[in-house]
Amino acid sequence: MSITPASVIRADVIAQKAYQVHDSTGCIKMDANENPHPLPESLRQALAEKLAAVELNRYPDGAASQLKARLKQHLGLSDQYDILFGNGSDECIALLIQAIAGDGVKVMALEPTFVVYGIAARAQRLDYIGVELNADFSVNVERTLAAIQEHQPKLLFITPPNNPTGNIISAEDVSRLIRATPGLVVIDEAYEAFASHRLLHLLDEHQNLLIMRTFSKIGGAGLRLGYLVGRPEWLVELDKLRMPYNINTLTQVAAEFMLDHYDAIQAQVDEVVTARDNLIDKLRQFKELTVYPSQANMFVVRCPRVQALHAYLRERKILVRQAYNWHPLLENCIRISTGTDAENAVLLAAISDFFAS
Ligand SMILES: *Cc1c(COP(=O)(O)O)cnc(C)c1O
Repeated sequence: MSITPASVIRADVIAQKAYQVHDSTGCIKMDANENPHPLPESLRQALAEKLAAVELNRYPDGAASQLKARLKQHLGLSDQYDILFGNGSDECIALLIQAIAGDGVKVMALEPTFVVYGIAARAQRLDYIGVELNADFSVNVERTLAAIQEHQPKLLFITPPNNPTGNIISAEDVSRLIRATPGLVVIDEAYEAFASHRLLHLLDEHQNLLIMRTFSKIGGAGLRLGYLVGRPEWLVELDKLRMPYNINTLTQVAAEFMLDHYDAIQAQVDEVVTARDNLIDKLRQFKELTVYPSQANMFVVRCPRVQALHAYLRERKILVRQAYNWHPLLENCIRISTGTDAENAVLLAAISDFFAS
């Protein structure tokens, strides 16, 4: 008998499709919620020198202690809390799910939302429960409380601002959900830099809470660095599942460099917020488009001929994210990541041409 992948690998894995990342060479990238601004030229040389001094023949510091100390300082974190780094917050999500995996264990998130929660849950064969948001994408607190009561999730992801919908939830509403959850709640603040408020302070109020953040949306997507913040008693358990050298030395050094020059990063974030608000205003002038408000660096746009628009933009080498196959609430929707002013102008011209044609 021949040995094939199908005779060795789990049938549910064989049946899955891999997460698609499209080739973006030569395109304007408004599809992945990245910071459109590269590190300022003035800082690149200084970073290059730091990276050149790295001893690549040695393993990284497995605990990333220097970076951790720098980040704690940056966050103004009190000594009662610790940080656990992941190779992107994707890895933090995978660690959380591995740590709770078992028969009948349920993971919950508020849909439509970030697809990685579901991918990671399926990888461990956990039950993934998606509780639907309201039609305007706000969190339906009563429906979520009822679902928590019914399903008793061991892990609940809440995502303010949410991907792809860009909306946020109040501290009061989040606290009601946390108090009702018979497991761990993870507030995924991937987009906190662009939002009106953040929820890190809720750690003081809730014992079953971790906050997750990432360098990916503020200019460090290529570093692959995310982290969990919270009580050490949770993080020490996850640390047992973390592979010993998950954060490479180049990433540790570059991330510390970003924190040391955070004023430059903050200036870019501020620029993105202003550009986002301008772009949303201008897009709202097209009567065919419904543009949803956002506290993130991206936002959802609904349009009757969405597939034609999506294809047209791709022809013009502008990449936006299709959201119309993501979830029924996102029917006829695309998600647009804010670009630079120049990129946003190209997008607006292309959309104007589309509706004129
Ligand atoms: C982009 C994103 C992340 C970040 O993932 P990384 O692995 O850190 O790049 C996490 N959560 C949400 C909701 C996101 O949209």
